[in-house]
Amino acid sequence: MYVPRPSRLNSTLTGAPVTYVDHFNDIAAYNIHLNVFEKAWAAWYAYLQNDVLATGIMSFVMHEVVYFGRALPFVIMDRIPYFRKYKIQAHKMPTLAEQWACARLVLLSHFTVELPQIWLFHPACQFFGLSTTVPFPSWYTMAWQIALFFVLEDAWHYWFHRVLHTPKMYKMIHKLHHQYSAPFGLAAEYASPLETMILAFGSVGIPVAFCALTKDLHVVTMYLWIVGRLFQAIDSHSGYEFPWSLHHFLPFWAGADHHDVHHEKFLGNYSSSFRWWDATMGTDIGSASEGAKKKQEKALLAQKEE
Ligand SMILES: [Zn+2]
Ligand SMILES: [Zn+2]
Repeated sequence: MYVPRPSRLNSTLTGAPVTYVDHFNDIAAYNIHLNVFEKAWAAWYAYLQNDVLATGIMSFVMHEVVYFGRALPFVIMDRIPYFRKYKIQAHKMPTLAEQWACARLVLLSHFTVELPQIWLFHPACQFFGLSTTVPFPSWYTMAWQIALFFVLEDAWHYWFHRVLHTPKMYKMIHKLHHQYSAPFGLAAEYASPLETMILAFGSVGIPVAFCALTKDLHVVTMYLWIVGRLFQAIDSHSGYEFPWSLHHFLPFWAGADHHDVHHEKFLGNYSSSFRWWDATMGTDIGSASEGAKKKQEKALLAQKEE
């Protein structure tokens, strides 16, 4: 908990903080044990005096900034010929017009479908016991909870994504997401509202259910998890395979190397973050780097035979 300064404990609020900076300084003066992020967090809630609004604005802005902020470098890379050698399906480069049309639909969905739901987030947090107070949990607690959410979300995503590929569900719901057979970062959330709801349960519903059971989850942990999940989703749709891509260091990590092939072939490679579900369930259809290697080997063989 943070301590309000003594003057605020009385009803006589002479010199009471007005601006966000006032609140920050006020909290900083009486709570030296808090770090700068915790002070900024507490000042935000104290400044707005409305927790639903405070959590709602923070959730929405964070999502927009991280989603478009992470996708932007890929939009720029698409325009720079140097990066072409890292593009998995380099013969299908998305045009700026295509990317803009995609961003427009994503934005429309964020403002019409997501925004009203985000407003329910704080009441849901209160109901299920998610904490919004300071200090934050330890780094250790945040790390193991986020790792657990990655594993659980991946399982949810794998099975529901498979269901979305049954003929009826594909036609009704999932076809929109597959409009781009060579995906790009902005297309990560290009999907029908129904699909967003089904798959977003894995990202939002699983941590909330975890908190309902354990009564041990902070909203800041939830935000860090969502940031990680957004990075994962945008990277896996980016269409870029770099020598420094994460799967080279963590072989079970999926990344664009795994998901790009799903968009190219429409079947198999259903999971989101990891490769183990596809590997054990026999739905692994190979990776982009494997495909490229095979093509190279074939070309070399053909050269030798000539
Ligand atoms: Zn799919
Ligand atoms: Zn996709």
